[in-house]
Amino acid sequence: MTYDIIIIGASFSGLTLAHHLPKNLKILILDKKKLLNSLIESTGLITQATKDEIAAFFEVDKYVPNQITTIGVVSTNFENNFFSGTKKPWIYSTDTPTLIQGMSEKLPKNVDLKINSQFITYKIDKNEEYPVKVKLKENGIEKKVSCKFIVGADGSESCVAKANKNLSKNKKFLVAIEKVFYGDILLGDNPDSTVYHFWFGEFSLGYGGWLSPTIINNKKAFRLGLAKLKKDRKELNKVNEFIEILKEKKIINIEKNTKEILCFGHQIPINGPLKKVQDDYSLLIGDAAGFCGAFSADGIKGAVISGKIAAKLIPKHLNGDKKALKTYLQEMEKHNKLITYYKKQLFYRFIWNRMKKNRTYKTMFNLIAKDKEHFINQFCDSKDRQKSLIGIVLKIRNLPLLIKYAWYIFLDLFKIKGH
Ligand SMILES: Cc1cc2nc3c(=O)[nH]c(=O)nc-3n(C[C@H](O)[C@H](O)[C@H](O)COP(=O)(O)OP(=O)(O)OC[C@H]3O[C@@H](n4cnc5c(N)ncnc54)[C@H](O)[C@@H]3O)c2cc1C
Repeated sequence: MTYDIIIIGASFSGLTLAHHLPKNLKILILDKKKLLNSLIESTGLITQATKDEIAAFFEVDKYVPNQITTIGVVSTNFENNFFSGTKKPWIYSTDTPTLIQGMSEKLPKNVDLKINSQFITYKIDKNEEYPVKVKLKENGIEKKVSCKFIVGADGSESCVAKANKNLSKNKKFLVAIEKVFYGDILLGDNPDSTVYHFWFGEFSLGYGGWLSPTIINNKKAFRLGLAKLKKDRKELNKVNEFIEILKEKKIINIEKNTKEILCFGHQIPINGPLKKVQDDYSLLIGDAAGFCGAFSADGIKGAVISGKIAAKLIPKHLNGDKKALKTYLQEMEKHNKLITYYKKQLFYRFIWNRMKKNRTYKTMFNLIAKDKEHFINQFCDSKDRQKSLIGIVLKIRNLPLLIKYAWYIFLDLFKIKGH
């Protein structure tokens, strides 16, 4: 069997690409998932700009249970909080499994989708018309297919990248765990349109926690989770303590006699965009290429945009324009300065990784809470976006707190004790 292009991974990046490639090309997209709506390991929060990108080719609004206008930040020891909101929805929570199923079912006719098909490896035979020789397992049976070009849309631990020594691999990860319950969130004025960040401090270093409202089977539900640096993944069971604290503090109310509806864990790449993401026969997109915020762990935007850009560049490449793929990262940057966004995220991650003590987190909280109304703009990737986080806090009146914060980070570097 031969194809023009084989895409490994039928999630945000692979499906976006498959929807946009020219209809005269013969495409195969395969995924190891057993069912189309198998769990996608994502909270599924997307910004307005990302929703617009998807809405341009798919009816995403049908899969958005909650429109979010507000972010609530809870400080160390769960003792303080602030809310930062916008009038218009700022992000949208998606019902990710059914959204992915919908996008899969609406694929154009030139695309052949195979699930329960696991990519194993590939090699190149330059003398052949279809030089990319792919080995896969379909329903457990080994198979070989050939194509002109292969795309790794297979997530943070891309097997396509692993099979090709010319391509970079993600090396730094957060490991996330998320649980979903039926019930209510009780914190703040409008919990159905608020997402919550927990700046844990010493309770759980590495990332923080999140809580977001959703609707499952027409019932109110919420997703909560936390993430750790991969080296600390053994501490992921802290999530249960987190749940107990939220119950005790009456921040959540789990529906009586119900257990968690879902629980999943997955890796999030936090090394920023990878250097070598293409060669003459292959390209990485989405998480596989490291297009994920190292600080806020948002990857859907990068997955969708890289899928769209790849759909423009690969046909040019196949038509003999050997420079086309080399413009990949420049094209990503043209989209709301996405590469610059990832670089800033690396800086925030660098600072966050150095913060060890509650006092440091508390000082940061106090610093940002002072200008809380601007805080939300950080995360809006639309044109409404104004100053960056650094731009917001760098003010003369904040100088004493900034000095205190810098001093505490300095002490954290040397692990000097304090509270
Ligand atoms: C807990 C959690 C919460 C998150 N929340 C958010 C959020 O709220 N907002 C946001 O923007 N981002 C979020 N992210 C990140 C986001 O989910 C990812 O960045 C996004 O899904 C990346 O899309 P992708 O298509 O590149 O890869 P993925 O969604 O990882 O999809 C890869 C696909 O490849 C398939 N695959 C892998 N290996 C093989 C193989 N060998 N053969 C065949 N198929 C294979 C997998 O089955 C999968 O379907 C979250 C991540 C996690 C872990």
